Amino acid sequence: MEKMARLFRQIGALKEVERFRQDLSLPYEAQRFSQQAYRLYDEYLAYALRKLQKKGWQVYCAPGCATCCFSMPAGISNWEFLLIYDYLQQAGQLSRSFRRNLESCQVLSRVSGQLFDGWTRKGTGDKSTYEKLLHDYSSAKHPCAFKTKEQECEIYSVRPLACRMHFSFTPPELCDPAHPQFPQAVRLNLSPHSDVEEALQELDSRLKLSISDLLAPGLVSLTANVLRFSPISWL
Ligand code: SF4
Repeated sequence: MEKMARLFRQIGALKEVERFRQDLSLPYEAQRFSQQAYRLYDEYLAYALRKLQKKGWQVYCAPGCATCCFSMPAGISNWEFLLIYDYLQQAGQLSRSFRRNLESCQVLSRVSGQLFDGWTRKGTGDKSTYEKLLHDYSSAKHPCAFKTKEQECEIYSVRPLACRMHFSFTPPELCDPAHPQFPQAVRLNLSPHSDVEEALQELDSRLKLSISDLLAPGLVSLTANVLRFSPISWL
C-alpha cells in the first residue's frame, strides 16, 4: 500500500498535473505509474482474499457475475476518471459511454428527485442521505453503463478502486437489493489504506477538475464540461 500511495504522489508531483486543465496533456509516466498502482492493489486484494479463504470464508465473486454492477460506484477520484476517459477515447467508445452514462444520471435524478450536478458525498448532505441515494439507485436495477450482455466490465483494466475493492461472502442473488435477504448479505470492501486515499486526494486537488465522485455523473461532467470530448495527449 505504501508503494501504491507513493506512485500516486509521484503523479501528483508532476508539474504538468497542475496545468492539465489548460493543456490537456500529461507525461506518459503518469499512465505507467497508475498501471503499476492498480497492479499492486490487485496483488494486495488477491493476497487478502487468500488469507480470508484460509480462515474458511467463501468468496462468491467470480468472472461472469456482475450482480453488484447495478449499483452506482462511489468515491471515485478525479484521477481515476481521467484514466477511464482516456481508455474510452482510445477505444472509440466515448460517445457511446456518454449516452449510456447520461441515462444512468437520469435514473439517479429520478430516484433522488434532484438534478445530478454536484452529487458528491459532501454535496449530498449527511452520510445517511448519500447512502440512501445509492441504495435507491441500486433498487432501480439500472445496469452500469459498462456492464456487457456477457456480464463483463467493458473498462475492466481501468475500473475504479470502488469496483475492485468490493467482495461478497454470500451467494450472488443476495447482492440484489430486491432480494428479501439483501440486508443479511455479507459484503466487504477491502478499501485501500488511508495513505492511498490521501495521495489521491492530493493529486485531485492539484488537478482542480471539481467533478462528482459518482461514476455516471462524474464521467458525464468530465466528458461534456471539462474535456469537451477532446483527447488527452500523452507526452
Ligand atoms: S465499472 Fe465495471 S465493475 Fe464497476 S459497476 Fe460498472 S461494470 Fe461493474
